[in-house]
Amino acid sequence: MDFSYTPEQEAFRAELRAFLERQHAELFGRQGLASNSVSFLDVTDDADWERLMEYHRRLYNAGYLALHWPKEYGGAGADPVTLAIYQDEVLRLGLPMYGANQVAIDRIGPTIILMGTEEQRRRYLPKMLTGEEIWSQGYSEPNAGSDLASLRTSAVIDGDHFVVNGQKVWTSVAHRSDFQCLLVRTDFNAPKHRGISYLLVDMHSPGITIRPLVQITGERGFNEVFYDNVRVPRKNLVGELNQGWQVSIATLMYERISGGARHPVERDLERLIEVTRRVEFGGMPAHRHPYVREKLAQFSIEARALRLARYRALTAMGKKAPGPESSFGKLLATEINLRLALFADELLGPYNGLAPDSIGAVDGGRWSQKLIGARALTIAAGSSEIQHNIIGERILGLPKD
Ligand SMILES: Cc1cc2nc3c(=O)[nH]c(=O)nc-3n(C[C@H](O)[C@H](O)[C@H](O)COP(=O)(O)OP(=O)(O)OC[C@H]3O[C@@H](n4cnc5c(N)ncnc54)[C@H](O)[C@@H]3O)c2cc1C
Repeated sequence: MDFSYTPEQEAFRAELRAFLERQHAELFGRQGLASNSVSFLDVTDDADWERLMEYHRRLYNAGYLALHWPKEYGGAGADPVTLAIYQDEVLRLGLPMYGANQVAIDRIGPTIILMGTEEQRRRYLPKMLTGEEIWSQGYSEPNAGSDLASLRTSAVIDGDHFVVNGQKVWTSVAHRSDFQCLLVRTDFNAPKHRGISYLLVDMHSPGITIRPLVQITGERGFNEVFYDNVRVPRKNLVGELNQGWQVSIATLMYERISGGARHPVERDLERLIEVTRRVEFGGMPAHRHPYVREKLAQFSIEARALRLARYRALTAMGKKAPGPESSFGKLLATEINLRLALFADELLGPYNGLAPDSIGAVDGGRWSQKLIGARALTIAAGSSEIQHNIIGERILGLPKD
């Protein structure tokens, strides 16, 4: 098998790399982000958000933002190799994969392309791309997380509108969002998976209250969102009434594919190898310690396996809508990411507990921030336990949980 790239692909990579390096230096490089964010979605600092928006606009104007979307809806309809090059180059610098509008570009836009009406596509997709309308995802509720189908936020039909009442929680980026895909119960008598509908909701509608939740990092990226008689036009229903579960699963699978491709594990590993040259472990330079060397070798193998899993997901994505196999990359990426952060913690010991601006903090405290964030990412988009269940039941055909 020939794994080499064509001259055209190499030219694409070179141009993209130069573009990304310029953006990295101008927008993120020297200053970094002020926020110690779990992910780019969670940036709290307004100046950081503005830089992220500027990055988004530049990515869009340069034609790189939604390479995976079809051309007729503003994407590039790119082939899997081009997409792989894009991912590799973005990960190489640890930049945000989809600008500031990740939720729209990686999952809601593709869902609307797959299952929305033509009117919905024409209305919503262009402004997702330009970043004029930022999106969030209203799924989880206080009593419906892993068991999402137990959700209770209700929508009752009143003429040309749904009237929505209830509460969502853990809604990333809700406070910056203009629109949201919202899961609501439209039939309380049907079996729980059959009474759910998927709505597109204007977040500036009367009756919506957004309250920030402060994370352990001090960031305020999550929110509780309350809906009090919020009127949503009926034309904002995606798919059939009461058939929203299928639509919601499509969004989740796109989200998990993206979750398997966004973590710059190889870059983090390189950084950690650099750290091992500067610190001691077990009374000797860490990079000479056999235990450390063995761990680093193991992570290198896993990082390469993750890269190949990412490529495989891209090949599959070109052929069909994502299925339960999307859980695999998400699980692999977030678990490696977590174990890497745990190993950094073991390596640095008490130094990893120092506040980012303390004397003695290693790498500006990035590894302790990473540890906190890495745990959260194994929960977002469905916890690791749930991904194990999906892989066991739906791919391996094991008995139900
Ligand atoms: C960083 C981050 C971003 C998020 N962003 C959003 C967002 O934008 N929009 C949104 O709607 N939600 C969001 N969430 C919420 C996320 O989807 C839920 O936290 C997740 O689905 C888990 O639900 P829960 O928190 O209610 O935990 P629970 O469902 O209560 O789970 C508690 C524990 O029990 C385990 N468990 C539950 N059921 C089973 C089972 N059947 N088998 C084995 N173990 C089980 C879980 O794995 C977990 O360890 C986000 C979460 C995080 C961490």
